[in-house]
Amino acid sequence: MMTKITIQGMKLDEKSSYQQGPALAPPLIRDALYSGSLNLFSENGINIENAIDDKGDFDIKNYFDIETITKKHLNLDNKILTLGGDHSITFPVIKAHHEKYPVLDILHIDAHADLYDNYEGDKYSHACPFARIMENGFAARLVQVGIRTLNTHQAEQAEKFNVEIHEMRNLDLKRIPKFENPLYISLDMDGFDPAFAPGVSHHEPGGLSSRQVIDLIQNINTEVIGADIVEYNPNRDFQNMTAFLAAKMMKEILSKMLEI
Ligand code: MN
Ligand code: MN
Repeated sequence: MMTKITIQGMKLDEKSSYQQGPALAPPLIRDALYSGSLNLFSENGINIENAIDDKGDFDIKNYFDIETITKKHLNLDNKILTLGGDHSITFPVIKAHHEKYPVLDILHIDAHADLYDNYEGDKYSHACPFARIMENGFAARLVQVGIRTLNTHQAEQAEKFNVEIHEMRNLDLKRIPKFENPLYISLDMDGFDPAFAPGVSHHEPGGLSSRQVIDLIQNINTEVIGADIVEYNPNRDFQNMTAFLAAKMMKEILSKMLEI
């Protein structure tokens, strides 16, 4: 069992297309985790407390500083869990992982496919990270779960990049494939139904339950080498319930990362 997992927070929301707020998220997810409201055990009985090597939060002025910071932390030989920030952070984080993990699968949980070639002229918008990842060949396989906003352009992009999309409208979690390569998990909090996670910029009804996402993560059968939790927007939250859901997901994902 691995001893430490690095936590890094990326305070960036300038690449959000609709509302700001996710830059405020990382310290608030930590506050929820250490609030005393919950213990620090995952559901399968792993105490994550001593596994955390917290490097704190970074004010991101230049977008690709995210890649530099992530590379520095990867050199410590720990796995990394990144707290966003909006979803734009995932491209530079994955770019940093590519050298160490040239063959990587990604499990992406989101209401949105985030496959736009560009969004309002920005190729690094939070609507674009998975287009950048796929055109650079940074993922052998991209499996998306929870999608319920597919338009014509993104459907074409998905086809072009061979993205495996499990849409909400006909979701069967038993059909999610077993992974074979090292796996990275990218969890956009708006993949959850807004009833479970109101603290997101884009409320998209008809989403995943907390239980469905926890089950999905607990059933992963391959090594999880990295992860991010993004798009928590504290400005939209109700009674911190989305912060507590993000903290719960942190525990479940960390426990999975510690498994191998
Ligand atoms: Mn997203
Ligand atoms: Mn989303």
